Formats: sequence, C-alpha cells, structure tokens
Amino acid sequence: MKKTVLVSGGAGFIGSHVTVELAQAGYDVVIADNMSNCDNTNYCGVCQILGKKLPFIKMDFCDENAVNNLFADFKIDAVIHFAAFKAVGESVNEPLKYYRNNLLSFINVLEAARKQGGCNVLFSSSATVYGEPEELPVTEKSPRQPATSPYGDTKQMCEDFLHDCVRAYPGVKGIALRYFNPIGAHPSALIGELPRGVPNNLVPFITQTAIGRRECLSIFGDDYPTEDGTCKRDYIDIVDLAKAHVSAVTRMVEGRMKEDYEIFNVGTGRPVSVLELVNAFEKVNNLKLNYKIAPRRPGDVVAIWADPTLANEELGWKAERSVEETLAAAWAWEKHLAGK
Ligand code: UDP
Repeated sequence: MKKTVLVSGGAGFIGSHVTVELAQAGYDVVIADNMSNCDNTNYCGVCQILGKKLPFIKMDFCDENAVNNLFADFKIDAVIHFAAFKAVGESVNEPLKYYRNNLLSFINVLEAARKQGGCNVLFSSSATVYGEPEELPVTEKSPRQPATSPYGDTKQMCEDFLHDCVRAYPGVKGIALRYFNPIGAHPSALIGELPRGVPNNLVPFITQTAIGRRECLSIFGDDYPTEDGTCKRDYIDIVDLAKAHVSAVTRMVEGRMKEDYEIFNVGTGRPVSVLELVNAFEKVNNLKLNYKIAPRRPGDVVAIWADPTLANEELGWKAERSVEETLAAAWAWEKHLAGK
C-alpha cells in the first residue's frame, strides 16, 4: 500500500524539492503551507514536474485545530516538518516571532502524532546547532554549541522536543536531519529558491547579481584563517538533499531505524570557500560576477563541513552532484525567473 507523507512548508524551497522526490519515489504527498514566506510558484512547478495536482492545504501549523483536522482527514504515515521562519538576523530582532512560530507549530505536529497513537516525524534541522566547531569535519557526535540566534535556538529546541516525545509517547519515532548549506535548483528549472527582498544567503545573492537585480556581491571578510581568507562551507545540492529525505522516510516507514530517535548530517563532506564558490559560478556559467570584499558579517562561523559517513552508511544516501552542476542549475533557475 502506498504510504502518505505530510510535508509542512511544502511550498517552500526545500519542501518543494522534497515533495517532488517523494512523489517520484511512489509516496502520496500532502502539502500544507500557510504561504507566509512564498507564493505559489514552487507549488505550480511541483505539479508541472509531476504532471499532476497534489493535495494542497493552506493552513497555519500554529493553529492546533487545523493540524488535528489534517491528521484526521488523511492517514499520515510520516510527517516532514519544514514550516518555520529562517532568517537569522530577523530572529535576533524579533525573537518572540520565531519562538512562537517555530516552536508552536512543531508542538502541534508532535501533539497530533501522539494523539493518533504514533507517527514517523522527520525534523528539518541545521548544522547551525554545531556553532563554530572545534573539530572538522563535524560528525553527529560533535557537541552542539550554544546557539547564537533565536533561530538557532529553535532548531536545538525542536530537536530536543522530538527526542523527548520519542522517549515519552509510544509509536512516535523521529529523525533530525542536520542540513549544511542547501543550494541550487531542480534540473527542470521549474522550482527553486525564491528569497523575498534582499537575499541573505550567498547563492541567491550571486545569481541575482549575475542577472542584474543586484549591483554587486559583497564577500563578507577575506581575513579569516583559511587558505584564501574567506569562510568555508559545505554546499549541498538541493536535489541531493531532497533525496536524503526520501531515504530517511523510507527507513522510518519500513521500520529499519536502529534507534527510535536518530540524527544524520546531510552534507557532501567537501569544504568550499566563498571565493572558490564565486569562481566556480563564473567558470561554469561563463560570466563575470561583480563582487567586492566587504567587512566580516557578525555571527559567521569560519568554517564548517560535514562528515556524512553515517548518512552514507545508514541511509544508503550520498551527495552526487558536483558544485559546478549545482551552480549551473541555480543560474538556470534565476534565468527562468527572469523569463530569459
Ligand atoms: N556570504 C557572503 N556574501 C553574501 C552572503 C553570504 O560573503 O552576500 C558568505 C557568508 O559570510 C558565509 C557564506 O557566504 O561565509 C555562506 O553564507 P550563507 O548566508 O549562504 O549561509 P550560512 O552558512 O551563513 O548559513
């Protein structure tokens, strides 16, 4: 029998790519989103890629009744929870907005999972929980560091909520996936990242600069203790990242978990500096990018990348795309948006 996966925040950047991969792997997918941070571009793109309309419910996960109704209306075998605010800087200025939205929505999901006598719950966490790591690459056993923003706090708290609920409530099982830096877009160029206003993240800023929407990319700091002085990250292709979700959900619904609560790093294991990324973007897309060196951005860690061995071995998943392929896809998406 086909299994049903609920994707909260399924109209967003990561949720839409995960939806496509789940549907292509044979799952029935229910998308729910309050559309607070996106329009219907990605939802329409998902339907176009799949050649069919998927069930979509416009709802807010902070509304407990709405969440309970959703679980009553569909027989949900697994839920992947993306619905959350994600702007680090904004979270510093508006902590309550972040606590209310990110924590309450997940509490409601966990409550519904408990009430139906159990559910497989996958939480979208972040490498931000590792802070500035003392040892690289980071494994799942690397210590979590105190969060530097309310956004980071909510990721740590939600991991703990999930772990506590797994311990307390029979049938509730959980996986937290800790993402490194998801970038790129679907190869069809029909879905991708749609930042509102000025992008905070590097790749959307690069593609918007290349297309002419931004004048110049600022590289935040070239005096870090790295080879070229810029920060290093583990940039993971969004389709590779989405496939890790399919592997994790399948592990849960097939009852193959080794523990009832598991954590996996989702990264490539390949560190890339900001300058290397910019150079790779220029080369693969055959263009010149207008950029300048700017002061450091407060709160940035110098370097972080994953040891993905656990996910490779336990999930049978591996990041496959090169950074060049991913940057070509990001550029194709930006051009698609510009109608070029
Ligand atoms: N970055 C940059 N210019 C930008 C945006 C980001 O130089 O306009 C750098 C940032 O300082 C960091 C890296 O790019 O070293 C990745 O930043 P991003 O915000 O994409 O992800 P983070 O790792 O901070 O979550």
